[in-house]
Amino acid sequence: MITGATRVCAVIGDPIRHSLSPIIHNAAFAAMSLDIAYVAFPVSSGSGSQAVAAMRSLGLLGMSVTMPLKFEVAEAVDRLTPQATKLQSCNTVFRDPEDPDVLWGDSTDGDGFVSGLTLFQPENARVVVVGAGGAGRAVIEAVGRSPVAEISVLNRDPSKASAAAQLATVARVGVEADITGADLVINATSVGMRPEDKMPFDIELLQAGQLVADLIYHPSETALLRAARDRGASTTNGLPMLLNQAALQFSRWTGQSAPLDAMRGALQHELAQR
Ligand code: NAP
Repeated sequence: MITGATRVCAVIGDPIRHSLSPIIHNAAFAAMSLDIAYVAFPVSSGSGSQAVAAMRSLGLLGMSVTMPLKFEVAEAVDRLTPQATKLQSCNTVFRDPEDPDVLWGDSTDGDGFVSGLTLFQPENARVVVVGAGGAGRAVIEAVGRSPVAEISVLNRDPSKASAAAQLATVARVGVEADITGADLVINATSVGMRPEDKMPFDIELLQAGQLVADLIYHPSETALLRAARDRGASTTNGLPMLLNQAALQFSRWTGQSAPLDAMRGALQHELAQR
């Protein structure tokens, strides 16, 4: 029940009405019997700093931040975690546990991706990341902190591939042929979200025994993942990343471990309706 004592968290962005974050986080707060409600606020480009000011004045406990606000919010908070500093982007705002008036910006997407990769041994692995937008950059930065041997970055716009390759010492701009020798191939482009989309790269390059990760979670199996499975590769979609980045946000706001099973159940139930 919402009372005068209920704390509020919110996701801000534009568009926001189809965000899955309220489903995931309200399930988590309910599972942990926490008196916190999570709502979505449409906030358009250019209003990110005002939303951070509103978080201060309204006493919001925390915020999730999505496009197009990740860069402006990173400029408006008081402090950034090392990941958010490197990316100059944040998807999470949380209060300093010692001084709640201090607002921190964090980026949990990359660590969420790495936490969700249960089928992968990073030691000396060769990784290809296709895509160098916001999600690809977060993944390159986080995978770059694990003990992989190399990260080859491919992107339609080569200047963005070069910039993203600066985010990890083991990363460099690659060529499509790198996919053949990779242990892990990650699709971080938005190609595959729509039924009419083509493949994000030449699937003939995929090999049995590889792990192919698609950051897309809707559809749950993209044409890329289906083709990779047909070729004998292991596959994983974007759901573990979505869940684990939210779990990291939950911990930032509450100081507690997230109830992953409850969050996963609510997310799967919602996706089945869409
Ligand atoms: P973004 O910043 O807009 O970047 C889009 C990326 O896709 C860029 O690398 C872009 O290349 C590439 N791209 C778009 N259309 C393309 C095309 N027709 N051919 C080749 N490349 C194309 O978006 P984002 O935030 O990084 O999101 C990327 C994907 O990750 C989306 O599908 C999103 O849903 C997913 N995602 C998942 C999670 C999760 O939790 N699972 C979290 C965040 C994002 P250019 O640079 O050349 O334009």
